[in-house]
Amino acid sequence: MRRSSTKFIIGTGVFGLSLLDHVTRTRPSDEVIAFDSGEKESAVNDSYKITRSLYTSARRTEIATGNHRKWMTIPRLSKYCERIGRIEITDDVDKLDAIDANLPTPRERHTEQSIEELLSTQTLSARECRCFEFAASLLKTANDPSLCCLWNEDNAVIDWNLCIDEIRKPLRSKIRQAKVNILVVGKGGLIREIHLEGGDIIPVREEDEVCLAAGAWTEEILKNSVITTPLKKLRCVGVFTFHLKLTDLHWDYIRDLPALSFQTKDMNCRFSSPPALKILISKRRISTGSDKRGGG
Ligand SMILES: Cc1cc2nc3c(=O)[nH]c(=O)nc-3n(C[C@H](O)[C@H](O)[C@H](O)COP(=O)(O)OP(=O)(O)OC[C@H]3O[C@@H](n4cnc5c(N)ncnc54)[C@H](O)[C@@H]3O)c2cc1C
Repeated sequence: MRRSSTKFIIGTGVFGLSLLDHVTRTRPSDEVIAFDSGEKESAVNDSYKITRSLYTSARRTEIATGNHRKWMTIPRLSKYCERIGRIEITDDVDKLDAIDANLPTPRERHTEQSIEELLSTQTLSARECRCFEFAASLLKTANDPSLCCLWNEDNAVIDWNLCIDEIRKPLRSKIRQAKVNILVVGKGGLIREIHLEGGDIIPVREEDEVCLAAGAWTEEILKNSVITTPLKKLRCVGVFTFHLKLTDLHWDYIRDLPALSFQTKDMNCRFSSPPALKILISKRRISTGSDKRGGG
């Protein structure tokens, strides 16, 4: 027998899982059912992630700084988070200026020569020394005076798989391994049914809530369901994946080096449409007005 209201969560990546975790902790008596199709390429299946807090937008910097602080201080997160720093090599002075405008003091911009001075005059830790030596060797190889080098303190690496596994473990009984194919929308723009691959149909009542958190697959579900949204530029870009296979020798070499970003103005990617958009629909009222029925 179902309780008075049920929350359905579609997708248990970082967004769906956070919601499931939050509802379970704050309202343990609420009924929550999550569906996940276990997409291998989803972002949640990444092995490591990087947090950083410096962006060109002041608002984004503020939000990211708050998130970064949480990663470093909340005990159940911080044990998976290790501050690593990041070397940035770039000729994009406009971008650096925009980021520095959000900081109390601008970051120091190094050249090959200033790094040499730093290495000879200051007391750096062995790790910092190695990092700056590494940066200097890159600048030397590039041999381009327009490039400068910055040491960013903002980066941390997260042992993501382990962290997500720990959060997911106590919630497993609430997650059903199933692919949602179609959401059927009825009167008033409310979702009436959730259609699963294999033919199961989950009825959704007026008092229930549905949260769509399927990451890059969101657009596909909405399209299959013939659901439009008031968002003009809804576009979920695909998933990018790259594989690095490290030998023990490689691993020994890089283990204490910081993350490295090398980006020149020419190399900046430009997207004609917004690069990524995740939507979180926390209420069931999601249609643009007229009643629609999912159809495939
Ligand atoms: C390769 C990669 C690396 C990234 N690295 C970083 C990083 O270092 N730092 C950072 O901050 N961000 C990073 N991001 C971005 C960030 O990880 C994502 O924005 C975020 O994790 C997205 O979370 P999500 O819950 O929306 O989606 P996802 O994590 O993709 O989760 C979506 C979930 O929905 C499920 N699903 C999909 N379709 C269906 C369906 N039809 N029915 C049921 N379930 C379904 C999938 O199985 C999956 O579990 C990275 C992203 C990618 C792709």
